Amino acid sequence: MRIGVPRETAQGERRVALVPEVVARLVEAGHEVAVERGAGSAASFEDDAYSEAGATVAEDAWDVDVIVKVQKPTAEETAKLRTGAVLIGFLQPLTDREGIDRLATQGVVAFAMESIPRITRAQSMDALSSQATVGGYKAALIAADRLPRFLPMLTTAAGTVQPAKVLVIGAGVAGLQAIATARRLGAVVFGFDVRSAVKEQIESLGAKFLDLGVKGEETAGGYAAELTPEQQEQQQAELEKRLPDFDAVITTAAVPGRPAPKLIPASAVVAMRPGSVIVDLAAETGGNCELTVPGDEVVREGVTIVGRLNLPSEMPYHASQLYARNVQALLNHLAPEGALVLDFDDEITAGACVTRKATG
Ligand code: NAD
Repeated sequence: MRIGVPRETAQGERRVALVPEVVARLVEAGHEVAVERGAGSAASFEDDAYSEAGATVAEDAWDVDVIVKVQKPTAEETAKLRTGAVLIGFLQPLTDREGIDRLATQGVVAFAMESIPRITRAQSMDALSSQATVGGYKAALIAADRLPRFLPMLTTAAGTVQPAKVLVIGAGVAGLQAIATARRLGAVVFGFDVRSAVKEQIESLGAKFLDLGVKGEETAGGYAAELTPEQQEQQQAELEKRLPDFDAVITTAAVPGRPAPKLIPASAVVAMRPGSVIVDLAAETGGNCELTVPGDEVVREGVTIVGRLNLPSEMPYHASQLYARNVQALLNHLAPEGALVLDFDDEITAGACVTRKATG
């Protein structure tokens, strides 16, 4: 197969869909790989490394059988795709109907990384998890950096410093990584999730489960179902009481395809101590805190609220490396013997595929 890696053009995107290590494995398996000049440079993968791995560094990498991307293509990029070409990337099928329709009209066979079923067999392709791992880690570092205090307890000649208290709300993949990272930095960490199954996972990381008395339903895929308005109100009220105890709050609560649940009302921010920090990983879908400004960092009532978007792109080297391995696993699945064999009776292929024939 001819595989193309275009340079990402979305604003602020520093990741690249394939890294040289993965390119070398694909070339060894008999594929041809074309990488657009400079595609990896923002992630510290230079053109020379791709050439050494066996790729062709090209001015344009769109005229191929399989295009691999991180972000969904723009309208102009979609127009460059050949009918029947395969496209792989984060295509936002639940929120970007227009983009998906464009791909369908163009006759592209598109696979959305976020639609890969989260089953054991597909674990190596799970880019939502790999990127959430990066985001969670980074969120803990940002919280540590913004706090005007230490995270660990310190005993010094000038006296003892008490450890910071960190609360992580939403203990999915990102939340658990944030908990683990904040723990390693020495904070006293609490975690909360509406799925009661995660209590044990939180505790296994050395953190404590914060019992807010709110239990949500878990869907078949292991995701949280949206809370009822009454449960949401109860959660907000409980959090408002507990938040003043914490120096940093990292929020990662999400319900697939829905706006982020609002967990922290403005009144709860007012109740927090000055100098406290909220890192809102859900800013991407509107934010878990009422005062979050997606894409920005603001100070309200002395509380720093970080709503930066696309945290995985801020650690582009490892984010790209993990993503590239996910993409490679999907490519191996779609083309086990080297040529594409699209079996739409297969759960992974059918689940990930979001467009497969021309409708225009
Ligand atoms: P996510 O990003 O959709 O949500 C993050 C977390 O927010 C979830 O843990 C969710 O329960 C929580 N949440 C939702 N509403 C909340 C609220 N009101 N208050 C507090 N927390 C709230 O989730 P994710 O990290 O992508 O993973 C979710 C699930 O998928 C987990 O059970 C995870 O173990 C599972 N998973 C399975 C596989 C696999 O089997 N291959 C791989 C990855 C993840």
